[in-house]
Amino acid sequence: MLGCSPEPTTSLPQLLTVSGVAQHIELPKSQASVGRSMLRLSDGRSVAAMVRALPSGGWVVALYDLGAIMSEDDRQSSDPVTSLLNREAFKRELARALTAKQSFVLFAIGLERFRQINDALGAGVGDALLRKVGDRLHSLVSTEDVIGRLGYDEFGLIRRGIASNDDIEIEGKRIVELIARAYAVEGHILNISASVGIARPAGQPGEDGLMGHANLALIEARAEGIGTCRLFVAAMADRLQERRRIELGLRRAMALKQLELHYQPQIHLRSGEVVSFEALLRWRREDGSFISPADFVPIAEETGLIVPIGDWVIRTACYAAARWPLPAIVAVNLSAQQFRGEGLVNTVVSALANSGLDPARLELEITESALLDDTAAVVGTLQSLRALGVGIAMDDFGTGYSSLSYLQKFPFDKIKIDQSFVRQMNGNAEAKAIVSTIASLGATLGMKITAEGVETQDQLAEIRERGCDYVQGFLTGRPMTAEAACKLLVDATLEDMRINRGT
Ligand code: C2E
Ligand code: MG
Ligand code: MG
Repeated sequence: MLGCSPEPTTSLPQLLTVSGVAQHIELPKSQASVGRSMLRLSDGRSVAAMVRALPSGGWVVALYDLGAIMSEDDRQSSDPVTSLLNREAFKRELARALTAKQSFVLFAIGLERFRQINDALGAGVGDALLRKVGDRLHSLVSTEDVIGRLGYDEFGLIRRGIASNDDIEIEGKRIVELIARAYAVEGHILNISASVGIARPAGQPGEDGLMGHANLALIEARAEGIGTCRLFVAAMADRLQERRRIELGLRRAMALKQLELHYQPQIHLRSGEVVSFEALLRWRREDGSFISPADFVPIAEETGLIVPIGDWVIRTACYAAARWPLPAIVAVNLSAQQFRGEGLVNTVVSALANSGLDPARLELEITESALLDDTAAVVGTLQSLRALGVGIAMDDFGTGYSSLSYLQKFPFDKIKIDQSFVRQMNGNAEAKAIVSTIASLGATLGMKITAEGVETQDQLAEIRERGCDYVQGFLTGRPMTAEAACKLLVDATLEDMRINRGT
């Protein structure tokens, strides 16, 4: 103890396991209560301060050097990096709050982009950043609340005194906003963000159940995008079941070879020729019907299955295109996860070598979400792919919020205008203006423009008038089997021969 009077009447262990930089001492709310604060000294020691008001006026402050008085139990309860409660100890606090039937809200806070910073700048910087996140959470809450580090980049918060769902969401947004402010760590200015899953004790979920609920809400928040807060609702558990069912089915489908590629033609507007096909993943059920990639690709992405599936897509598409009778391009969609690690470039190199496909006949489509993660690393991978002679297209252009900055960061060969703009063009001046603007942007930047989702002659006339180069849509050809795509090209070849012979 650094200084003392009177002896603490409340036990300290809860304080011992938290850390903070509240470099002020919180005063008690009434004479009967004790104010508690955590101070971090410049030599790194954590100090617990307890303040009691004296009846005669004034205060008594007791300071405890936590390192000196921490018991073995306390040490086992705390996360060694942040000194916050570890997962087990946090769960015990949660169980205590549930048993005491206290009113509280549980927040599961997931950091975004922490892994990249930790990998790039080392664990020293990563640990210091985690401590700062813990400190910020402390600055937000009262000493009644409990903070823990639940996993590599996950924190938990048991917060008392919030009643309505509106207040809960406001609190969640405050957490997101606070964590998103820049950090200065060892000479680096670092930016991370957070997603938040929130759960309230309802029914009798138990501590594991309640943490499961908050975690489910966090998964949904993360899936919706960085910086999102979600409050748990029962439908989330149903969606998880459904996701698990699809994940298991997808693993089975890979083993049973139930995945296949269909190919949708892309037409050169000026010549009317089929110049390329986009390879689109299909999952054939046992009854012969297909499950749409919109339903299973996001789950494959969440579970990491998209990496082996994506490898298979690249190899299969290259193999098919190498056997076409005309040198049409094959376009393959990539997911953000495929850019993590070293595998993608190697997969493309070996798929090209094994199939014998000219690299100029392979085009890789990426969406902005791939660039969001870690733009510099992704741009580096794109440059390596470009160096192989492969084309790179920006898919679904216009749906993200900062596409223009990405166009500056990487010289795409092609921009595919998202079908939502094409669909809205009928009679909608804004959508027409957007398509015109993207087309002239492409012309200025030397990038070709494809309009996606063209279904009617009117839409075709509109996009032609606005200067697009290529069209892809149900009007000019639906996705078709590999055999049908091959036949389309054979027919085009025969047609060419007929024209040349003048027959
Ligand atoms: P995308 O890459 O933008 O592909 C175009 C989607 O639009 C395809 O849907 C295609 O069938 C559909 N489409 C084309 N023309 C029209 C039209 O005129 N009207 C309408 N309503 N739709 C049209 P699909 O095949 O369901 O694929 C959906 C998305 O799934 C793709 O969007 C792509 O993001 C993803 N996806 C498909 N295959 C793969 C793959 O192999 N890997 C990855 N990572 N994602 C894939
Ligand atoms: Mg695509
Ligand atoms: Mg698209």
